[in-house]
Amino acid sequence: MQLYLYNSLTRTKELFVPIESGQVGLYTCGPTVYNYAHIGNLRTYLFEDILKRTLDYNGYDVKHVMNITDVGHLTGDRDMGHDKLEEGARREGKTAWEIAAYYTAAFRKDMERLNILEPTVWCKATDTIPEQIELIRTLEDKGFTYRTGDGIYFDTALFPGYTKLSHQNIEALQEGARVEINPDKRNATDFALWKFSPPDVKRQMEWDSPWGLGFPGWHIECSAMSMKYLGDQLDIHCCGTDHIYVHHTNEIAQSEAATGKPFFNFWMHGAFLIITGGKKMAKSEGNFLTLDNAFVNSSIDPLAYRFAVFQTHYRKPMEYSREAIDGAVNGLRHLRNQVRTLRDAAGDQEGRIDDGLRQNFLKEINDDLNMPRAMAVVQALLKSDRAPEDRLATVFDFDRVMGLDLSQADKADALPGAIDQMIAERTKARQERDFARSDELRDAIEAQGYVVQDTPEGMKVFKP
Ligand SMILES: [Zn+2]
Repeated sequence: MQLYLYNSLTRTKELFVPIESGQVGLYTCGPTVYNYAHIGNLRTYLFEDILKRTLDYNGYDVKHVMNITDVGHLTGDRDMGHDKLEEGARREGKTAWEIAAYYTAAFRKDMERLNILEPTVWCKATDTIPEQIELIRTLEDKGFTYRTGDGIYFDTALFPGYTKLSHQNIEALQEGARVEINPDKRNATDFALWKFSPPDVKRQMEWDSPWGLGFPGWHIECSAMSMKYLGDQLDIHCCGTDHIYVHHTNEIAQSEAATGKPFFNFWMHGAFLIITGGKKMAKSEGNFLTLDNAFVNSSIDPLAYRFAVFQTHYRKPMEYSREAIDGAVNGLRHLRNQVRTLRDAAGDQEGRIDDGLRQNFLKEINDDLNMPRAMAVVQALLKSDRAPEDRLATVFDFDRVMGLDLSQADKADALPGAIDQMIAERTKARQERDFARSDELRDAIEAQGYVVQDTPEGMKVFKP
């Protein structure tokens, strides 16, 4: 079946055709490892995981590269401010290298807990300094660079396609760039390829280069690493929408200026996680939640977050609320209960994947990863009158994309089906502010020998 993906370059859903038949080169911008990822960041990695699993489900052999930014990402996105890693080191009294190692491990643990598949290649910015220097030299040879007091810059006025990803006019982009003014830049949108180590400060991370001691600008690493590991197989590049206007725009400019060839064919961007009041979750806003403090510390299965993310299309902002997470906790529990019931009914019978429903599921995920509609197909399957063993085989097949570990459902939070049903109803009643009904259901659950607690982290039901 044909796969359609929304391409930010053309702003349309396009038929996906890989450069080499049967294979896909996928590059996803990884974390800057100076702090924990917040669950808004993790939403982006979940969207990319669904993309990757969908490509795999369609039979493609996916080579996935993810970088780890461990140098060069400054507190201001426009080459101003401090290196986030060096700042993390100061904050925690460690070295920048220790900070990078610690938060890389924390990020990988988050990925594992969310059942996000590992990339084929992990690569660190600090491991590809020679490749980055080489790329800057190419740009210098071709006349795209100039030197200022603090670094080597890319002259964006010399690259005609500079606005093709943002679809803004150049004046608007430059206006945005004026927030952080560096008077030595020729154009407000110009960006650093190489920054010199400040003469008065000893940096922990710095390297020799043809231009002097220093460190790479943030954007150059993704260009150098994607070309190093994917070569010409530059099919899909992803990240969050916040990277369209600066990071990805600059990646395209420097890569295409260097090679004279189109950089990635598809650019895909995931929307933000919004908290109450309409603000995006961001470290700079100081309103961020990690997987630990939002889920793990409250004994909530992190896979409930994965399930919650499926309820909103990846290009729409997703509202984070306790009610939404409650709904997801109950939804996931209900799904696992359905699977357990099917397993009991199927016994030792070997099931067959239902081809008609598989086509329906594929149609939804192949329509720009429409997980909300795909999840409706999952429910239609579970409630259908097909043989239990066939339903079970089919839902396990769908789980290759969902990644909810349904074959392990027995180990998860088992509650009897009737209790599960009442919890779902009570969650709904509370969402509708029908507190009389909610109290009634609490009494009914407690009459079955369970304790119901409404905590700031949501409803908890357990055996005393
Ligand atoms: Zn990047």
